[in-house]
Amino acid sequence: MIISIASGKGGTGKTTVATNLALSLGKGTRLLDCDVEEPNAHLFLYPEITETEVVTTGIPVVSDELCTACKKCAEICRFRALTVVGKKVLVFPELCHSCGGCVVVCPENAITEGARELGVMESGHCGELGFSQGRLRVGEAMSPPLIKKVRTHHAGAKTIIIDAPPGTSCPVIAAMKGSDFVLMVTEPTPFGLHDLKLAVEAVRVLGIQSGLVINRSDMGDDGVLEYAKEEGLPILLEIPFDRKIAEAYSCGKPIVEIMPEWKNEFRALYQRIEKLVQNGRNAS
Ligand code: SF4
Ligand code: SF4
Repeated sequence: MIISIASGKGGTGKTTVATNLALSLGKGTRLLDCDVEEPNAHLFLYPEITETEVVTTGIPVVSDELCTACKKCAEICRFRALTVVGKKVLVFPELCHSCGGCVVVCPENAITEGARELGVMESGHCGELGFSQGRLRVGEAMSPPLIKKVRTHHAGAKTIIIDAPPGTSCPVIAAMKGSDFVLMVTEPTPFGLHDLKLAVEAVRVLGIQSGLVINRSDMGDDGVLEYAKEEGLPILLEIPFDRKIAEAYSCGKPIVEIMPEWKNEFRALYQRIEKLVQNGRNAS
């Protein structure tokens, strides 16, 4: 089963839930940290990294000798990653989405595919828990290809926990797509509710079942609870504000390490998700 942990905004406790859920399930589980712009799960898991792979994406390389400046490549590129100035094709690699369209339309076979480095994928383990993460190169904006690469790295795992990037843009969709369930982590504040609504819309577009974890549930107001009731979103876990949890977080320690009784809470959370997914499959 693939469970994505998402949130409409950063700082809600998404990584806390992802790491503690993964640690509570242990053997047969792999955590994929797809928050590649700022991967934080390793700060709590201290994984042993055994494999590192440079991840690249394709970019066009134009032969000045073969090119006749016909402009067909520039005309097809919807991302404006190519332009023809005089008799020369200029390529803007950071705008290229590697669709390959320009290579196909070039009548002179003047375009070949080169490579641009996006970042690295690192894999290893944390005890019995499998672990992979992507690290986007500093200054790089094209994260979906790196996220998709990390998403493929789960051979042999029975349960895959994905720590998705915050927000609702393309990287989030790349991380969540193909999941069996999306667990949205929110907090009971007006900001939390605003961003939760955006996240719910994104998940609904993908047609994936979802539920909520409310972090710092005993603070704020009832806006999130009322919204969840209106929208029929199940609340699967509430984590109250607890000084011990806040202290553990600031020291880079998982909740289940300092308060092992929370393992049962996270295992029960998994069982609730499993039941919802099973019911959803039976109903379809
Ligand atoms: S590969 Fe696609 S996105 Fe990149 S330059 Fe060519 S047409 Fe544009
Ligand atoms: S389509 Fe090929 S020949 Fe035409 S401008 Fe582009 S690279 Fe040159």
